Amino acid sequence: MSAKELKEKLTWEFPEAHKNKNICNEAVMAFAEDYKDFLNKCKTEREFVTYAKKYLDDFGYKSILDITDKNNANLLPGEKYFFVNRNKSLVMCTIGKKSINEGLRISVSHVDSPRLDLKPCPVTEDTKIAYFKTHYYGGIRKYQWVTIPLALHGIVFKADGTSVDVNIGEDLTDPVFYITDLLPHLGQEQNERKLKDGIKGEELKAIGATIPFLDEDDSEEIKDAVKLNLLRLLNEKYGFTEKDFVTAELSLVPAQAARDVGLDRSLVGSYGQDDRVCAYGAFRAELETKNPEFTTLTVFADKEEIGSYGPTGMSSDFMLNFIKDLTVLMHGDLNTVLRNSNALSTDVNAAFDPIFPSVYDKQNSCFINKGCVLTKYTGARGKSGSNDASAELMSMVTRIFDANDVSWQVGALGAVDVGGGGTVALYIARFDINVVDLGVPILAMHAPFELAAKYDIYSLYQAVFAFYK
Ligand code: MN
Ligand code: MN
Repeated sequence: MSAKELKEKLTWEFPEAHKNKNICNEAVMAFAEDYKDFLNKCKTEREFVTYAKKYLDDFGYKSILDITDKNNANLLPGEKYFFVNRNKSLVMCTIGKKSINEGLRISVSHVDSPRLDLKPCPVTEDTKIAYFKTHYYGGIRKYQWVTIPLALHGIVFKADGTSVDVNIGEDLTDPVFYITDLLPHLGQEQNERKLKDGIKGEELKAIGATIPFLDEDDSEEIKDAVKLNLLRLLNEKYGFTEKDFVTAELSLVPAQAARDVGLDRSLVGSYGQDDRVCAYGAFRAELETKNPEFTTLTVFADKEEIGSYGPTGMSSDFMLNFIKDLTVLMHGDLNTVLRNSNALSTDVNAAFDPIFPSVYDKQNSCFINKGCVLTKYTGARGKSGSNDASAELMSMVTRIFDANDVSWQVGALGAVDVGGGGTVALYIARFDINVVDLGVPILAMHAPFELAAKYDIYSLYQAVFAFYK
């Protein structure tokens, strides 16, 4: 055997994008159009749940809570069920042909993203400028969040217990909010700060208004009249008062819409692609799954960016409780169901960035335009905090992807000891469920405007669809 033949037989590299003629085919581009529309409508976890609810009816999903006679239930293959958890996380499923005891095929993604949350008492005034004080949510590089247009999203509960949805800054005719930075001329002292302190947490205050409220007779101005004016404008639009900020969840998010990036339109640029890129792929795969072999379970979780805590995050048992309900309804045995289930923790990974090569191990990085990325383990400092998927599960899922022509690659999150991160995988594994991370390579992850390749976005959807089929 010649060296060339031997090389062909024994060595392996993940296929290069430019050799794949389908890289920007019609299906890939059309999927990206739908995805961009989704991104623009779903900038918070609540907005995702609202968006998803519109599709549940059309695709025949029924609330699992509506089944009252649990012991005599007869769930048939192809039937679809859902459960909304506190308006912030969602579980969807499609009944499979096999007994539930054969296990579930699960995908879990998260629908929260890094952002700037308003503090409980956010409105303040300084030198005739009214500000919203914020506390950042998730891991952000604070200097990236100044001098960009910001939109205000969320919900406010008023004194009478009714609520109102807030959305200011997305319509092009809307005003936006803004956090200032110093001009370079006066930035010498700030330039000496470390990058991580370039902008400090308490400096993330967004301008809300600058004109004071004056009495009609133009008499003397009251204290904090600009703040009063800001509260008046909010009250006119939404009917709430300063006290109601305490009973609100309001967030500042980048106001830009999703855009194509590059003259070849190969990339999507947008806020919140971590992890709505996987959420969208999994959502579409779940909707379009008709008569699967195994019962599917598609979970959209909240709070991943701050450690999955709280009843809507994956450290809560809401997914387990759904599986318990489903097991009763399908007359199975819970321990058997869990033990036989296989899950994809669908979350993004860091694409190799040639501008900053030193933080990656190039040979074990994922690249844009090479398809979705399997991440065997995440974690940091000796895989600490990682789920570390088994060889058996890696073998099972890669065989499914290969059999269905899904483009996939493997990727580790950065070089050893450079940094690291985690996903919800460990919260799935603790239920005695096999799980591996699968995602989309992202450039500039957690930035206000992140990049993903359309080809990879589509590949992730194909991968979850193949896993469910
Ligand atoms: Mn993520
Ligand atoms: Mn993240």
